[in-house]
Amino acid sequence: MSEIVKIFLELAKIPSPSKKERPVAEYIKNYLAKYPTIEVLEDRTGQKIDGNCGNLIVKIPGGSPHILFDAHMDTVAPCDAINPQLKNGVITSDGTSILGADDKSGLALMLALIDHLMTDDFPHPTCTFLFTVCEEQSLMGAKLLEQKYLDSVDYIYVLDGEGPIGTAVVKTPHGCKGTLKVIGKEAHAGVCPEEGINAFVVAAEAVSTLSIGRIDEETTCNIGVAQGGTATNVVMGELSLQFEARSFSPQKLEELTNHVKETFARVCQQYGAQFEETLQLGTPGYQLADAAPILTAFKKACEHEAVVYQGAACGGGSNANVYRMRGINAVNLSTNMQNIHSVNEQIAAADLEKMLTVLKQLLQKVK
Ligand SMILES: [Zn+2]
Repeated sequence: MSEIVKIFLELAKIPSPSKKERPVAEYIKNYLAKYPTIEVLEDRTGQKIDGNCGNLIVKIPGGSPHILFDAHMDTVAPCDAINPQLKNGVITSDGTSILGADDKSGLALMLALIDHLMTDDFPHPTCTFLFTVCEEQSLMGAKLLEQKYLDSVDYIYVLDGEGPIGTAVVKTPHGCKGTLKVIGKEAHAGVCPEEGINAFVVAAEAVSTLSIGRIDEETTCNIGVAQGGTATNVVMGELSLQFEARSFSPQKLEELTNHVKETFARVCQQYGAQFEETLQLGTPGYQLADAAPILTAFKKACEHEAVVYQGAACGGGSNANVYRMRGINAVNLSTNMQNIHSVNEQIAAADLEKMLTVLKQLLQKVK
């Protein structure tokens, strides 16, 4: 069994739900203890989010540019007891838990890359390895990382994407979500319904004039949760709808959310109801040009390893979105983890090995 697969299997066995990443952090510190010159720093993010662990930072000096690799230590549930199985070259859980390839594949790759930098003598760029906490909860760890760790960084490669090895996430949507609340008026439904304003009826009329679902090829919206009412004999006084919208175009996102808000406000006014909303923009999406320098080195590395490069769109965000929002050139690369956030999650041993060779080449090609 290759070293990278061995590291991955050891990491996968360690439960690390968000805010409880400490055991994985200890594994990483112990793993790196064999290198006396390596200092593993831990920031104060753990205290800030009421977790038991902060982000870990390992910097290995070298030439320029300064590149940073990122992977997150936390996983989603169920992850109390994980028994990874390696069969026919594919690693899965035993079917009762997630595997946690999201994102222990990234962690294993980073540890193997550190081994490469520490044991093989070659000119290399300055490399920072960032092991983040709480990615699965609104990318909190990356958002709270102190700026001083990012100041001199030129490029960030996040190892947390899906798709075949060679995939870079070059396009992610902008998003907006929150509550749309219609406040009508309660009244006895049998005695005096005419004194009430049924919030459901008002909301239904507003929704019926809107498009919900796919708006166009780059824009979607959804009402995912509806909560309201108290009893069958009471005119529904309030209805709250959980709404989200996504678009690769920030302008279209703004137009759509404004249209939704205006429609609800207008219909509520017609019925004498009130309208409240808490819609908020999420971490911004991004779109990279095919010629972006951060992609050039990755493309060259892929080519050297006979891996097909592809730029892909992804419907969700990653820590790369946070770093780009913070002004640093970042991209998310795939480790080919599959069926993530499910008990069918899996990753191929050969893909871990292949991605390691690509990343080793990336260190040679990045300029
Ligand atoms: Zn992830």
